[in-house]
Amino acid sequence: MSVSTDRDAAFLAGIGEIANTVAAAHADDVDRNARFPIEAITALREQRALSAFVPAEYGGEGVSFRAIATACFTLGRRCGATAMVFAMHQIQVATIVRHLEGAPHFEEYLRTLVAEQRLIASVTSEVGTGGDMSRSVAALTPGADGRSSFEKQAPTVSYGGYADDLVTTLRNHPDAAPGEQVAVLHRTDATTMEPTGTWDPLGMRGTCSPGFVVKAEVGAEQVLPAPFSTIATETMVPVSHLLWSHIWLGIATDAFDRARAFVRAAARRAPGEPVPAAVKLSHVMTQLSLLRGEVNTALDEFLEADEDRERLSTMAFALHFNNLKLAASEQAPRVCQGAMGVCGIVGFKNDTPFSIGRHLRDSMSASLMVANERLHQTNAGLLLIAKEV
Ligand SMILES: Cc1cc2nc3c(=O)[nH]c(=O)nc-3n(C[C@H](O)[C@H](O)[C@H](O)COP(=O)(O)OP(=O)(O)OC[C@H]3O[C@@H](n4cnc5c(N)ncnc54)[C@H](O)[C@@H]3O)c2cc1C
Repeated sequence: MSVSTDRDAAFLAGIGEIANTVAAAHADDVDRNARFPIEAITALREQRALSAFVPAEYGGEGVSFRAIATACFTLGRRCGATAMVFAMHQIQVATIVRHLEGAPHFEEYLRTLVAEQRLIASVTSEVGTGGDMSRSVAALTPGADGRSSFEKQAPTVSYGGYADDLVTTLRNHPDAAPGEQVAVLHRTDATTMEPTGTWDPLGMRGTCSPGFVVKAEVGAEQVLPAPFSTIATETMVPVSHLLWSHIWLGIATDAFDRARAFVRAAARRAPGEPVPAAVKLSHVMTQLSLLRGEVNTALDEFLEADEDRERLSTMAFALHFNNLKLAASEQAPRVCQGAMGVCGIVGFKNDTPFSIGRHLRDSMSASLMVANERLHQTNAGLLLIAKEV
């Protein structure tokens, strides 16, 4: 095995252990109380998983993107909220790693992230633009001392109360158009965060994602050198859609596993008797296979295109990765609902080995994390003009 394969295998073995022991043990309590999955995130920190994607030259583990995606799937099978916190952090890490363009501030930041296992949250959504990441209202406003300040009304900041740092999107100056954006990295202990609500949602309750008014003053060195439009097309959009989809696949897979365990238990209770739910299970498996196929194909396509990163900016790839998000976010709840139909009342109840309620509720957040209708509207425009799809 090559060094990188060894590294990936060791990383994934550790993730599997944390998923099966720590995340699984606390998932129901995290969900019931809409509390941060502190045990699993602490375990991930101890395993140095927060710096897993940081290249070895900055002291990180340098695991592959495929391994990060697999980790999202593995964690998603046991606790959707833990997986989502892990994924959102890795999206920010990938953004910095892939777009720092040799800037010393960001190189130094990555070394600090490795040493301190810092957790990064994201502030892209905004009151006024909703989930449209390609436009901002808030702007960097230059001050007298060469620094700039901003104030952003953020409707949803997952684990904002637990993060060490934030990546915030803003217009790059007060007169800039909504699409002239930059991404800024700033510490939460140098940021004012006024909560604007509570967090008592249907699903993904452990992500602890209330709204905040986010205010900070930053230096020019804290602005990522690449324009945000490049960051979004080459990294933030495809990486988000890939990692989220792996989580949704993980949630759906566990729902299917529970349904299968239910059918097998029924067969054991009455040997030789037909189990009517077994046929329903077969239908659910077909739905799960479609989801798995979509997610795995998209990951392979991304890794292949990433060898020549500019290919990620083509209309064809924008369509593919939007379509991945649309397909996976609609298919995962379908699988969970099918699994609940297999298990019947013991799937509907929250306190049985076959409970599917948390899976179904968590998976229903998928179509809202950037509203699917927005993506359909973007795709509708691209389909009219793209030469190849
Ligand atoms: C669990 C979870 C965690 C999240 N964490 C974060 C986070 O950490 N940081 C962050 O920045 N964001 C986060 N978000 C995303 C954020 O909450 C939403 O993207 C944002 O708040 C948009 O809110 P909205 O649903 O009102 O969507 P909007 O995009 O404002 O949409 C509102 C309604 O209008 C419809 N709509 C919007 N545009 C169109 C269109 N073009 N065509 C047709 N219909 C349209 C939508 O379908 C929807 O019905 C998270 C979301 C979830 C579910």
